[in-house]
Amino acid sequence: MAQTTPNHKITVAGWAAHDNSGVLTPYTFKRRVNGPDDVSIKVLYCGICHTDIHHVKNEWGITMYPVVPGHEITGVITEVGSNVKGFKIGDKVGVGCLAATCLDCEFCKNSEENYCDKVQFTYNGIFWDGSITYGGYSELLVSDHRYVVHVPENLPMDAAAPLLCAGITVYAPMIDSKLHESTGKRIGIVGLGGLGHVAIKFGKAFGHHVTVISTSPSKEKEGRERLGADDFIISTDAKQMESKRRTLDFILDTVAAPHSLGPTLELLKVNGTLVLVGAPDKPLELPCFPLIFGKRVVKGSMIGGMKETQEMLNFCGKHNITCDIETVTPDKINEALNRLANNDVKYRFVINIGDKNSSH
Ligand code: NAP
Ligand code: ZN
Repeated sequence: MAQTTPNHKITVAGWAAHDNSGVLTPYTFKRRVNGPDDVSIKVLYCGICHTDIHHVKNEWGITMYPVVPGHEITGVITEVGSNVKGFKIGDKVGVGCLAATCLDCEFCKNSEENYCDKVQFTYNGIFWDGSITYGGYSELLVSDHRYVVHVPENLPMDAAAPLLCAGITVYAPMIDSKLHESTGKRIGIVGLGGLGHVAIKFGKAFGHHVTVISTSPSKEKEGRERLGADDFIISTDAKQMESKRRTLDFILDTVAAPHSLGPTLELLKVNGTLVLVGAPDKPLELPCFPLIFGKRVVKGSMIGGMKETQEMLNFCGKHNITCDIETVTPDKINEALNRLANNDVKYRFVINIGDKNSSH
């Protein structure tokens, strides 16, 4: 049983990968005692993000084993520290990717703490006390309250959980590109997975024409009929791609595997923007001609700040936006991870952490 620092006295049951085979097994570890700035959260649900696969298999080469993944967490507050304002026992809350930032730099002061140079994540990070952070594939979380948000009353806790990462990751670049300020733009979403399916919903809620650019013909009917996409292009079909050249103002690329950006860039109008949020383990091919001939921009984006995460959840509450999920019990985590790796989920697995089938 891991005990990283002396005040880590709370025994917690969770699930961890111990090597790059990526297999998770039940794992009991210690969390810190709830401090004055902390809240303790009984975890109800945790989404399975593709980032969890990158970590459990050490695809980015940064994993500190054992790793307890999970950064799409919803739960209920069970304890509140003495300095904490705005949260009380029983509140329905969410925790995403952030565990700690410096609180002092220009980004922290400007509600962009996700870009703090000292950012530490909910798992595989190093907290202020020197301990390694463990994520939401566990029954209890202790979080500094500055990285906790309220889940609107009308949102179901299971289908809201993936909003804490997938949701904010696609919402933030849309706001950054001012897609909330005018309607009728033509936007493209590359990859119809966990991130991509929420991106369609935000794109439609902001009043835009949404095109999905996918490798999966089997997702077209649902993409159009249930998720509300206006158009659907198969990226491996050169003819379809050619026929849509210079049609889009903005594209969000959510693909988790290496691919060339050239064909995607050709879909943008002159001056169009391609934002990368997908994070493959290898560099992407970036040919210069589609950039030069179209004065196009490629940029990246990482999750969002806490203020914006709360705004995103409030927006979801107002527009009834949740994720399309398949709920699994904790004993099915490995099966779910394998299916996600094989592109076999519509569109997000969510672990029902409290389910009694738990193998602990
Ligand atoms: P996901 O559910 O697996 O979705 C990724 C989608 O990409 C798939 O559904 C598939 O869509 C497409 N795809 C998969 N393999 C492909 C291939 N070989 N070539 C082309 N397309 C392929 O993953 P996710 O949870 O949405 O995460 C996506 C990526 O975003 C991951 O790399 C993750 O680490 C990253 N991420 C980044 C941030 C950030 O802050 N920037 C936050 C969260 C996650 P189609 O079937 O439609 O082609
Ligand atoms: Zn994630």
